Amino acid sequence: MVDGLFHVHSNLSHDGRLSILALVDLCREIGAGALFLTEHYDDLDPEKMEAFVSTCNAISAEGLCVVSGIEYDFPECSDTHVLAVGLERFVPRRDIRKTLEEIRSNGALIIVAHLSRNGGHIPDEILDIIHGCEVWNTGYDSRYVPNYKILTAFNRIKEKRPNILAFSGSDLHDKNGAKGLVLRFESPVQNVKDVLHCVKNGKFINKGLFFKYHATRRCFGFFTLMMVFFGNILIDTLYLGVLLKKRMWQGRKSNRQ
Ligand SMILES: [Zn+2]
Ligand SMILES: [Zn+2]
Repeated sequence: MVDGLFHVHSNLSHDGRLSILALVDLCREIGAGALFLTEHYDDLDPEKMEAFVSTCNAISAEGLCVVSGIEYDFPECSDTHVLAVGLERFVPRRDIRKTLEEIRSNGALIIVAHLSRNGGHIPDEILDIIHGCEVWNTGYDSRYVPNYKILTAFNRIKEKRPNILAFSGSDLHDKNGAKGLVLRFESPVQNVKDVLHCVKNGKFINKGLFFKYHATRRCFGFFTLMMVFFGNILIDTLYLGVLLKKRMWQGRKSNRQ
């Protein structure tokens, strides 16, 4: 069994705080055997990409599977971010459809990132070309349960594209971003090729602290949706409680001064 940290930014991205080597140490600390790096498109160019890919390959040769990738954003679809996973060549950004076609022809996977960012919407023009979408992202959603609205949106996406894969990611930019959500590979994976083979074929489970789902699951059923719905209410209530308590404490402190 191998766990993978998915959707991670190193300091090659302008908002990443950790070097790739520090991320490798973090993986060892938390027991992850695979690392999926997806650096922001605007921070890369062909030379930087070449150096990035050779670093990933050198570390992978030592044991930990480090997969290179890019996170694209597109001016014409500003809320849609796309992860090109397993990409080893810099593919310049053109219009969204043409870019994704080129990424796919390079053998990489295409995953729509953090569905919560745009309310679970996937543009029609790319629905047939993507491999999957990030149903749960702990950068946008709670670390304990996914977002109810996004699970129902995923069910609607599944009706149109039954073979679409469900992913979960950390959108990790620093050490605090490791929130216990991983891709778990139950079949033996020894190298990046094995990892990408499992990912492409949906042979993994998305595993969080209290919630898990298979990459190929048909849709989220009534019982799961209810559990997540009440989980969301509980988390929102607790969050509001903590916020109110903090405000009261600050109020008392300023009254005393
Ligand atoms: Zn993003
Ligand atoms: Zn990201």
